[in-house]
Amino acid sequence: MKSWICGVAALLATTSAQAATVVTADRMLDVRTGRYVDHPAIVVGDDGRIQQIGQIASMQLPAGVKHIDLPGETLVPGLIDMHVHLNSLAEIGGYQGLKYTDAFWSAIGPYNARKTIDAGFTTVRNVGSPDFDDVGLEQAIDGGWVVGPRIVPASYLLGATGGHCDDTNGLPPSLGADKKSPGIITSPEDAREKVRWVHKYGAEVIKICATGGVFSLGDSVGAQQLTLDEMKAIADEAHMLGIKVAAHAHGDEGIRAAILAGIDTIEHASLATDATIQLAKQHGTWFDMDIYNDDYILATGTANGTEQESLDKERMIGLKQRQTFQRAVKAGVKMTFGTDAGVYPHGLNARQLPYMVKWGMTPMQALQSATINAATLIGWEGTIGSIAPGKSADIIAVEGDGLADISRYTRVAFVMKTGTVFKAP
Ligand SMILES: [Zn+2]
Repeated sequence: MKSWICGVAALLATTSAQAATVVTADRMLDVRTGRYVDHPAIVVGDDGRIQQIGQIASMQLPAGVKHIDLPGETLVPGLIDMHVHLNSLAEIGGYQGLKYTDAFWSAIGPYNARKTIDAGFTTVRNVGSPDFDDVGLEQAIDGGWVVGPRIVPASYLLGATGGHCDDTNGLPPSLGADKKSPGIITSPEDAREKVRWVHKYGAEVIKICATGGVFSLGDSVGAQQLTLDEMKAIADEAHMLGIKVAAHAHGDEGIRAAILAGIDTIEHASLATDATIQLAKQHGTWFDMDIYNDDYILATGTANGTEQESLDKERMIGLKQRQTFQRAVKAGVKMTFGTDAGVYPHGLNARQLPYMVKWGMTPMQALQSATINAATLIGWEGTIGSIAPGKSADIIAVEGDGLADISRYTRVAFVMKTGTVFKAP
């Protein structure tokens, strides 16, 4: 607390922003230290940044500053989900998607974005969408035309022919052969070129498919699908451009190869062995494990049109993934928060927090995974991920003590992003 206040003088000296809003509540949670601050008053400038944190009684606020008081609430940083698909809908599974025109998937983006920010998620990493839809959605949100979270877009998924990222799996050659997904790569050289291509058109993270998947038809969920050399080429090229790589990987060999290739985050990580967990620890590789959605997929998959093959795969890996999560947490692997929203309905993202606690995290660890850890992973820890002077005013509120009952994060009453209120009690 003391160091924040000391920092304010320096901060105010370097910004011409005027104090615009002060937010007060019963408590504030500092996710960096795990400590509560009683009766905080957070001053937000008209540039959307936090200027000062103190207590209302000792503050000299200029006239005209808007006061938002949230009695009974605890202020926490805006939540961050590292694995969403804003241009997908859980309700349309399997071949049902073929009934919709290509632009439909762009059209639903704003709807899903609104659901996501209303749930308290002020930043998301969108790990895959067609037609650069997520880049367009990011531009529309940043410009203020559409309401939604800050987006780190991946655009097209990169992967092997017939693999998890190949959109035309499950179609006959007469329909699929000439409609190859632009994200298909055929060699390390091609992989480098595709990284450059998606980056050119707005990708801020690269998403690859290192193994088979649940919803891709005709592939084995655990089998490796990209070679070590292809993954190395992708990691080298992306890092040269200053961006990170997220690898979809369920099977142990594919996870291992991705870690050795220098990939930054392993998505799913379902079948990682103890040896691979240790390897991730040695390499500082993040695990991003979606351990909530299994319940949704198995309960509603048939009604949503999901193919039996996909449901069988989910049944095979769902419980194993949760057990792997528990072993990875215990081993001390760096963990972030990713839910795969889009395979379950958008806006239910925080339902994963209680699952993380049930499977081995403390409530504080679960919350850190969705705030400061996620911010660190994308290199934005100076801007988001905690409530501190100089950072973007991304603030949400939950009733009472959210750490005593982590399910309270599924009922967020107040959402502010970059100083603008999007939801209020
Ligand atoms: Zn996904």
